[in-house]
Amino acid sequence: MNDIKLALLGSEGAGKSAVLVRFLTRRFIGEYASNTNSLYHKRLSIDGRQLNLEVFDPCSESSEARCILEEPVDWADGFVVVYNISDRSSFIRAKNILLQIREARVDNCKGDVEVPVCLVGNKQDLCHIRQVCEDEGRCLAQENHCNFQEVSAAESYQDIGNLFTQLIRQVMEHLKYR
Ligand code: GDP
Ligand code: MG
Repeated sequence: MNDIKLALLGSEGAGKSAVLVRFLTRRFIGEYASNTNSLYHKRLSIDGRQLNLEVFDPCSESSEARCILEEPVDWADGFVVVYNISDRSSFIRAKNILLQIREARVDNCKGDVEVPVCLVGNKQDLCHIRQVCEDEGRCLAQENHCNFQEVSAAESYQDIGNLFTQLIRQVMEHLKYR
């Protein structure tokens, strides 16, 4: 049984919990507890392999979330960095987080091993008030050698399901060589 640990990072209100709950339950509830860190567990099977998935969903900007970035980024095997396409400041925050993940890995002499990351532009349903165009997200992801996906946790499961599945596959591949 493989254990896979993922962490969600991003500005408060970007929709980290909504994206995660959509993945885990296929539902959108609308309101999510925002004052506690949560660790979610789920057993799932991908490509015929049984996995124990653990996902850390921080209450935004908590000291623990910062800790995960400041200490060796060792806890997580992969990251989902979420911003809100209708809030430019959340995009700038995502940019900083991607940088911090990279720096932490380099400091930890793991610069040669790139940790799997997916950059997620959430709230695609709010594209009429979009502040970040899709190409900017795609470029930022390319610069950081990570995957990119725009999604709407409010409206659909499909893209979110795909991005988690793809990230988990990458993590499994990555762990083989560690
Ligand atoms: P977090 O602080 O990053 O965990 O953000 P939450 O998941 O708590 O979401 C913050 C707010 O944005 C909540 O009111 C959600 O209902 C809302 N939200 C999350 N995802 C979406 C989305 O895809 N579209 C829209 N319109 N609202 C969303
Ligand atoms: Mg949350």
